[in-house]
Amino acid sequence: MTIFCCVNCGQSLTSEVVPGEPLRGSERPATHEAVSPRMDAGTFKVNFDASLLILHPDDVPGTTPHPDPRRLSGCCGVAGQDGPNLVCSGCGVEVATKESDCWTDNFVALIAAATDAPASE
Ligand SMILES: [Zn+2]
Ligand SMILES: [Zn+2]
Repeated sequence: MTIFCCVNCGQSLTSEVVPGEPLRGSERPATHEAVSPRMDAGTFKVNFDASLLILHPDDVPGTTPHPDPRRLSGCCGVAGQDGPNLVCSGCGVEVATKESDCWTDNFVALIAAATDAPASE
């Protein structure tokens, strides 16, 4: 079990998570709905260059939406195309990007450099 913490203030950002694999291709709903989450709850996946940790959207209880509303643009959710849109709820630094819109993927990408995550897996 791992809990990733904010490198700036030490607050825990995630739930207890274990390494996992992304879930494969769910059909995109025809309506304005988010696809099912990319990761199972309680799992994370380090991305190809170890700069991001991909998590289930419910596994980041230590984060809060970015105070700049332009970062939170989206149709049905947040698109995550305008830079990090989640900040540490303890100190306010940018720590993650959430994608949950009807035309994007559905996950939270934690910035590895903003956490105490090991540099590589
Ligand atoms: Zn929509
Ligand atoms: Zn912090």
